[in-house]
Amino acid sequence: MIRFGHGFRISRANAFARRLSSFSAAQPSSNTQAVIERELRYGGHNYKPLPVALSRGEGVFVWDVDGRRYFDFLSAYSAVNQGHRHPAIVAAFLKQVDQLTLCSRAFHSDALGEFEEFVTKLFGYDKLIPMNTGSEGVETAMKLARRWAYDVKGVPEDCAQLIFPHDNFAGRTLGVISASTDPDSFGGYGPNLPGIVKIPYDNLEELEAAASNPYAAAFIVEPIQGEAGVIIPSDGYLRGVQEICKKHKVLFIADEIQTGLGRTGRRLACDHESVRPDILLLSKALSGGLLPLCAILADDEIILCVKPGQHGSTYGGNPLACKVGIAALKVLETEKLADNADRLGTIFRKELEMISKEKVTTVRGKGLLNAVVIPNRAEYNAWNVCLKLRDNGLLAKPTHNDIIRFTPPLIITEEQLRECIDIIKKTITAM
Ligand code: PLP
Repeated sequence: MIRFGHGFRISRANAFARRLSSFSAAQPSSNTQAVIERELRYGGHNYKPLPVALSRGEGVFVWDVDGRRYFDFLSAYSAVNQGHRHPAIVAAFLKQVDQLTLCSRAFHSDALGEFEEFVTKLFGYDKLIPMNTGSEGVETAMKLARRWAYDVKGVPEDCAQLIFPHDNFAGRTLGVISASTDPDSFGGYGPNLPGIVKIPYDNLEELEAAASNPYAAAFIVEPIQGEAGVIIPSDGYLRGVQEICKKHKVLFIADEIQTGLGRTGRRLACDHESVRPDILLLSKALSGGLLPLCAILADDEIILCVKPGQHGSTYGGNPLACKVGIAALKVLETEKLADNADRLGTIFRKELEMISKEKVTTVRGKGLLNAVVIPNRAEYNAWNVCLKLRDNGLLAKPTHNDIIRFTPPLIITEEQLRECIDIIKKTITAM
């Protein structure tokens, strides 16, 4: 049994039938249309959102401007692992809002050190640098790696090389798009940053060749490539990366901005192979979806290479974000969200694998970071499947024409997940 927003209880099968009929028009309402048109009129066209206009979120659900409820199977690209507006995180936010929100790094605050101590002890690093967005985190790691290469490794000034795998995604700023192999990201925005070497993902021989260059400073890698379509490397890849980096005195930098914080069924995706990166990047769920926050963690030998005045951000490490970050991490730990992701992810993949291969060629993932690959036919493509899923009360987003990523909040219950599996199976089978 499930509870609908308007207050009556019906069986799961009836719920699905009701959804199908109530959404069958599939045309945006005039409210939705008005929201979309205003965004298009006054906002830059740098995104192509699914046509749905949201106005409220709670737990695993979001509601549109007409009051229709959806399961959120994107979780703001895994920023909302703890669910929308988690009460403990919201409480921490409200408490700090009444105290001090921003003082800049020109002064100390009583919240920053508390955050730094909490996070570094939880993840086992000497220190961290706080910033805001994920791409700032990656840019910070790139700067740190260059500085470390010059100061510690002895690479001649301006010669450091940063190694990235193909199909990486690390945001949209100029430094990280210079490392991209997706022409949509970097094409037409040159000149790109020099000193970047791109090698195939999940290929240790190529890494060995690149890392053995004496100018190599760091290898920056996602343990699972999220935006590329949930690409999981071979077992042992991360261990191999760690060994090669160590052998050639190259920093192993793990971009766990999407894979970290419980998403893959472990606190970090690196924990699946018990590896410890030299620099760890966290963001997204670090604030549970309340505000931008990222952390760059490393030991003293690396992190102290950056000296006062060489790096920072006005909002980086602000007291509000610090208190929110502590609360968000405590929720992940106390509610054992990684364990929930691990258990429910196994159920999810097993159930979706039962869909005919005609409709879903591949199901892959770890924990609750999952994707399906569909045969990309004229009408049956990832965008259209996501539109139908929306009509049936579940929001997911395509990555590429033939891949749909399924990443619900990690607080989802088994009953809710099974209801969502029903929606996905019935939607795909009906198409
Ligand atoms: N790194 C990874 C692995 C990501 O998935 C993303 C965003 O999706 C980023 C970095 C960039 O984060 P942001 O969008 O907050 O700049």
